[in-house]
Amino acid sequence: MPTLLEDFLSRDTSRVLHATWEIIRSRDEAQLDALLPHIAQIRTATEGLDMGGMLRSNAGNVDHAIAKLESYRGRECWCASYPGMDQYEPAKEQDRGHIRIISASEPGWSMSYVCECTVCGGVFNVEQGDHHVMWWKWVPRGEKRRRAH
Ligand SMILES: [Zn+2]
Repeated sequence: MPTLLEDFLSRDTSRVLHATWEIIRSRDEAQLDALLPHIAQIRTATEGLDMGGMLRSNAGNVDHAIAKLESYRGRECWCASYPGMDQYEPAKEQDRGHIRIISASEPGWSMSYVCECTVCGGVFNVEQGDHHVMWWKWVPRGEKRRRAH
């Protein structure tokens, strides 16, 4: 099986996207650590690739995966990634044990949540909207937190 690094460097759109989503979802330190020495290489190899995307640009997701690696290298908490991409769904993040939904408005297309990171306790105001696809805008209430070890 090719490694995620090989996928990132492949110049093959579907493989790059596979690696991108693996990294966006990952909290596996061994998996992330393996990529840290190669961030610059990954950026160069994915730059200028026509990533496509129907309603939203896949290239933005590649950038987000790279930003996540940088945030991880900087020892920021996992939740530091939330404001950088609008596809983190509060209910799913809660199911994964990543956050706790403290409060939510009446269910509907347009909603707001208050969420707390289960790792660092950081609190976010989250707005949910719908423009072709659902999106969630995460705004931290406090300063950036570090991962606890
Ligand atoms: Zn956190």
